[in-house]
Amino acid sequence: KKIQPKKESYVIASDSTFAPFEFQNADGKYEGIDVDLVNRIAELQDFNIEFKFIGFSSAVQAVESGQADAMIAGMTITDEREKSFDFSTPYFNSGIQIAVKKGNDSIHSYEDLKDKKVGAKIGTESADFLEANKDKYDYSIKYLDTTDALYSALEIGEIDAMMDDYPVIGYGVAQKQPLATPIPREEGGKYGFAVKKDKNPELIEMFNEGLAELKRTGEYDEIIGKYVKDGS
Ligand code: GLN
Repeated sequence: KKIQPKKESYVIASDSTFAPFEFQNADGKYEGIDVDLVNRIAELQDFNIEFKFIGFSSAVQAVESGQADAMIAGMTITDEREKSFDFSTPYFNSGIQIAVKKGNDSIHSYEDLKDKKVGAKIGTESADFLEANKDKYDYSIKYLDTTDALYSALEIGEIDAMMDDYPVIGYGVAQKQPLATPIPREEGGKYGFAVKKDKNPELIEMFNEGLAELKRTGEYDEIIGKYVKDGS
């Protein structure tokens, strides 16, 4: 089914770096699962888009303020966010996990985070999880603006641990980043493409139709397989 776009072009906000969902390749061009999915869906459903890779919390604000029409940024569908956003059909199953620097042998459970400094990217599900469990496990939280800053902070020892989506940590491990994941992940987050509540409903419909077609034709699996090699 083909849906009629209502705008000449739609502005899609995204994260600045969240590999394998969006990241700059060696040529400085953005690619990744989110980028490829939306580009293909726009082709199939025949609408124009302009991506803006502005960072996760900036993307949230851009959609809320109407500066962007939609966002795709490995964004987890949560009850809280459903108050201000309308989401597409979920397009990826994820979850969050603690990571430490490879070789750090002192952290095996959340209890071991006592008196440690744990990092997360501002505005994310991981940040919310850390905040909600802070008193229980007695760590302090350091908020970083970008995924790059978060992973660097861990590498240079500015933080003892960090929390992020496990496919992103898994991609880092596959890229030989010095990371280890000693604590089992929190299951259950699903990613959605999002618009501001009650705005651009046709865009959600077009995304859903396009996604269904990509799943039907097997192209969805090809896109995922291009970035996620080992099922991690
Ligand atoms: N999935 C997480 C969230 O929705 C992180 C997204 C991101 O960092 N781009 O909060």
